[in-house]
Order: sequence, then structure tokens, then C-alpha cells
Amino acid sequence: MSLRLHDTSTRTVRDFVPLRPGEVSLYLCGATVQAQPHIGHIRSGVNFDILRRWFLHNDYRVVFCRNVTDIDDKIINVARGEGIEWWEVSERNQRAFTHAYDSLGCLPPTVEPRATGHVPEMIELMRRLIDRGHAYAPGDGSGDVYFDVRSFAEYGALSNQRLDHMRAAGDTDVEQEREKRDPRDFALWKGARPGEPCWDTPWGAGRPGWHLECSAMATKYLGGTFDIHGGGVDLVFPHHENEIAQSKAAGDGFARYWLHNGLLSVGGEKMSKSIGNSLLIPEMVRRIRPVELRYYLGQPHYRSVIDYSEEALTEAAAAYQRLEGFVQRASEVCGPTPPTSYVPRAFSEALDDDLGTPAAFAVVHSAVRDGNAALADGAKERAATTLAEVRAMLGVLGLDPLSSQWASGEGTGLREVVDALVAVALEQRQAARARKDFPAADAIRDQLTEAGVTVEDTPQGARWELKRG
Ligand SMILES: [Zn+2]
Repeated sequence: MSLRLHDTSTRTVRDFVPLRPGEVSLYLCGATVQAQPHIGHIRSGVNFDILRRWFLHNDYRVVFCRNVTDIDDKIINVARGEGIEWWEVSERNQRAFTHAYDSLGCLPPTVEPRATGHVPEMIELMRRLIDRGHAYAPGDGSGDVYFDVRSFAEYGALSNQRLDHMRAAGDTDVEQEREKRDPRDFALWKGARPGEPCWDTPWGAGRPGWHLECSAMATKYLGGTFDIHGGGVDLVFPHHENEIAQSKAAGDGFARYWLHNGLLSVGGEKMSKSIGNSLLIPEMVRRIRPVELRYYLGQPHYRSVIDYSEEALTEAAAAYQRLEGFVQRASEVCGPTPPTSYVPRAFSEALDDDLGTPAAFAVVHSAVRDGNAALADGAKERAATTLAEVRAMLGVLGLDPLSSQWASGEGTGLREVVDALVAVALEQRQAARARKDFPAADAIRDQLTEAGVTVEDTPQGARWELKRG
């Protein structure tokens, strides 16, 4: 593997050399779980999953940490609006995110730490920063702790800005602003406000600043220095700039490569909430199969902007179906054909060139055209060789139709069809019972049981599930 990656911190494409041979440590800023995931949120999940799979294909061990920000102003506001606890909001949305990542075939993270589970690590990091003169607590026991941006000469390097040109951090209210040494100082820890959740620290009770938690968790799970830090390009400033400031000022090496994926826009504009609702993952997978959605998000280069359109989505689905069609036809003709352990050189070169997925996908399509020609010629052996290579490439992209992820028919809409059919049968059974025709009602249940559907009568009505095994 001779991978080259575009590093935001150097603004160049440079050779990737891992810290430890044969192992890659990867940190991805995960969700702030204030709402359901839309495709803009999940894009980074898919992009970094392809990178991870590329490393795995090249026999690297990958330690992948993706955090969850489970406390934040917006989460608190949502909870207030609904009259529920902040952790109910976090739990609910974290489950929705996990489900969305899973349904799009993203491998689960090695570790998925939550902010509120890492307060001791954050206190320790603040202590180091205060001891080194890079952070301060105003000394009133308010719980506020700030990073002193003027104490850190490299501040602004990642986002290529000069301190004099930066605006105020704007992360506190007017009163707190007066505590700051410089308006650009950002909050490491936010002092408790009445009625809000808080945790004790030596500087007063409060809750984590968003930036601090990522530094603390990345360091805990990946070490003071690790390989790759990723996230959406909207996180470069202030989030990642601040992570670097915190960790480097505390004496850690922190991330050696910074990778940022482009955003998803709609009509050339940042996704608005109203449009965003129709692009929620649970909504989208009703209109398009999850595997096709993965194709749609994974095919464009990770650094490009995806401007969402229904047409492009439909085209992506059709393009995936061409690949899938070949894999299915060739498997029927050639019999079971496992993927090769290697991928064609052009595919390798494409991914090694800053994860060039557009070129890599083009290689797959070209192979599929050859494979279709082989099938048309009745050249079974050639078709089988192509099939094995196509499956290997699609495996790296997380799109192999015959992999366990996609072959089960999950998300193909079959479940919905079964749901509807069972509902019809249960209605008929209910009608039979209502007219006291119990033999007919029992017969319907027996037929369902025979088909593998077990029915259970509960106070809320009949529930059913598919018998396993
Ligand atoms: Zn982060």
C-alpha cells in the first residue's frame, strides 16, 4: 500500500506512514445527538468507513474511535421543549445514529465513547493546561474554564488564519465574556446554570465544552499521538483548531494527519432543517435501498461537495443495480465465487491516490462491462475471474451484494412487504374471532406458524415475529 492523503494541516497530499507498523489509529468526530441523523451527518461515516476498509484490505489493524457528544446546549433545549430528561434525548438519537450507520454498512467503531463518561479525563486535561499556563479559571468558582489562545503560538494554523483576523469565540453569554482574557478564548468547561445538568470539577460545577471532550477521548483511546483525525470540513474551525490547541498545548503530539470530508448541500446551499427532514436516514431508506444510498454517498470524492438531488440519487441506484445485476447473473452462471484477496492495480492506485473513489468506482464499472461481455460470449471462466475481482473491489467499498450485510435482504423492502401481509392475516383472524368462528381463527394462526411467523396475543393486540433458525 502506498497511500497518499490530503492533509488539511499541511494543505498537501502526502505519503501516509503510520505511527506503528501495521496499525492505524483513526479518530472521527461523531454526532452531537440532538436530533435524528440525515444523510449530511452520515456522509463522513461512509467516507471514513471506506478508508478503514481500505486499510483492512491491506492487512492493517485499525483502531477506530468515533465519539458521541451526548451533552450540549441543543440537547438540553430539545429536552426542555419536550419536557423530558437530556439523557432521554441523547439515548434516543444515539440509537438512531447507530442504526443509520449500521444500515448503511459502516463497520462498528472499535470504541464509541460518550462525552459524559469521560469527565475525569477532561478534568485531567484542564489541569495540565492550567499548570502549563494555557488555560485559566476566572477564580470565582463559577465552573468556567477557558483556553488562553494567545498563549499558543500555533493557534489558527489548521484553518490557516491569523489570530488578529479571528472573531470572538462567541460561545458564552455577555457576563461570561467579561471573564475572558481575550474574546477569542474558548470555553473548555462551561459553568453550571440553574436547572442544567452539571458535573463537579476543582473549578466549580459545570459541563464539558464540546472541543475538550474530543481531545480527552482521542487521547484516552488512541494515545497522546495518533495517526488520523477526521471529520466534516465544517469542523476545521473552530472545533478541530481548538482540539489541536488543547492537546498540543498540554504536551501531546495529537493527530498526525487531518482529513476532512466535504459537505452535503441542497440546491447549492447548506442543508436547512425543513429540507433536512426529508433527508433523514429512516425516511430515505423508504425511497431507496440502504446499499444504494451508500453508493450515492461513497462514489463522489470524499473532499467534494455533494449537491443533493433526486436525479443523482436515482442515477446512483441505477448504477449500483448494474453492478449488482452482473454479480447476481455471473454467480448464477459460474456458481459460488468468493472474492479474490487482491484487487486490480488500477483500483488500488485510485484509492491510494487520496482515496480516489470516483476513479475506483470507474474501475469496478469497467470490470463489470468486461464481465457482462464474457457472460454474453459464454466465456464462463473469464466471467468467474471478473466476478471474483468485482466482489473484492465492492467489498473494499462496502458494497458487495453477496456480503452478509446486503445478501440477507434487510432493507430491500421485503420486511415491509411481510409486515403488510401478516397484518392482513391478523385482521382476518381478528374478524373470525369477532364472529366467534374460532376454528377459522386458529387455522390462520397455524398457517402463520407454519410459515415461520409466531403470533403472540398481548393486551396491546397481536404481536408477531419471525422464528429464527
Ligand atoms: Zn470532535
